[in-house]
Amino acid sequence: KIKLTKKYNFNMKNYIKKNIDKIRSDFPILNKLQNNKPIIYFDNAATTQKPQVVIDSLKEYYENYNANIHRGVYYLSQKATEKYEETRNIVKNFINAQFDEEIVFTKGATDSLNLLAYSLARTYLKEGDEVIISHMEHHANIVPWQELVKYYGIKLVVLPVDDNGELILSKLEDLITYKTKIISIVHISNSLGTINPIEEIIKKAHEFDIKVIVDASQSIQHTKIDVQKLDCDFLVFSGHKIYGPTGTGVLYGKKKYLKEMVPYQTGGDMILNVTLEKTIFNDIPNKFEAGTPNIEGIIGLGEAIKYFQKYSIDDIYEYEKELLNYATNKVLEIDGIKIIGTSKNKASVLSLYSDVVHPHDLGTLLDEQNIYIRAGHHCTQPIMQRFGIPATARASFAFYNTIEEVEQFIEALNKSIKLFL
Ligand code: PMP
Repeated sequence: KIKLTKKYNFNMKNYIKKNIDKIRSDFPILNKLQNNKPIIYFDNAATTQKPQVVIDSLKEYYENYNANIHRGVYYLSQKATEKYEETRNIVKNFINAQFDEEIVFTKGATDSLNLLAYSLARTYLKEGDEVIISHMEHHANIVPWQELVKYYGIKLVVLPVDDNGELILSKLEDLITYKTKIISIVHISNSLGTINPIEEIIKKAHEFDIKVIVDASQSIQHTKIDVQKLDCDFLVFSGHKIYGPTGTGVLYGKKKYLKEMVPYQTGGDMILNVTLEKTIFNDIPNKFEAGTPNIEGIIGLGEAIKYFQKYSIDDIYEYEKELLNYATNKVLEIDGIKIIGTSKNKASVLSLYSDVVHPHDLGTLLDEQNIYIRAGHHCTQPIMQRFGIPATARASFAFYNTIEEVEQFIEALNKSIKLFL
């Protein structure tokens, strides 16, 4: 077990802090050794580790009720369908959607955003219409819109970001024109950690009858999401970043829009009736779930959310924020390194840049000490260009991380930097 080198006055009333050993024991990978030493996993913004209950649910599906869904009249298929649809209800309650059918299962946030771009373009947009994104978007919320520029004549407009990594919100109204139809915006930036004021953006957008998509890939696991309170029109996230299996994702959409929208993919399961001449599509959500889905993954996602909901999101947020603040204050004491993304309102992500050591070298040096961070552009090249850097070394925290791990990370960081100074 890693020991704290200095006393740290952590809020011991926090439930996560009090139960951290138990929480960590729920995640088998966290208790594995590499070269006989514990590992420190700080790449949670890329993907999170999975609790045993999620791992077990995948095995249980294949051992006990593996069958295709929605089609079978027999027990196994009905059981698989029931479990798959149970996750829809779990997600609906989790994000406080109004109806189960407002939850569409996808492969991940990327898949959800592609579905949206394609379907919104074909349903609502015409040549010359405008879509606003921000400078800090993940490629998954840039490239699909660029494709619409190419193939549908859509204009892509970008909300700028200031030197702290905050949206320049005062510019939003200037960018809105009578042709603006969609604003697609990240809630929490995966490379800067900025928490964007999406409530304000949604309110402003609705004054102009603009639909808003929220990319909640980095917020669903750190903050409370209530889609009715937010009043967002669409919201997307990936299952694997909230302790669920890879290859799973969610698209939430307001029922009235999903009903109007054309399907993204077509084929089996999304139809009511097919003749050789024409097809009548199924109702939502099936209209958007063509083909055999990732059944075991979606069932696992349900387990992940059930597991996550055992804890209070306020406790999780507070605990992770303490980790971030502690790490931030310690990094500020290190010469030769700076933080990219210094917004007042941040969550979970600490992106570092140094003129003396390349982020990749930093990543490799830390890896030698079993500390796993991410070095690169984090699929956000435009915001790297905005800051004039090729990459950052990013540590991102989850609620199973500890202050002792942060301490070790800081120590390793200090040692690594000293090699180059
Ligand atoms: N948006 C954001 C903000 C992300 O952080 C990510 C993943 N890094 C994505 C979208 C894409 O998620 P996925 O790769 O799971 O589809």
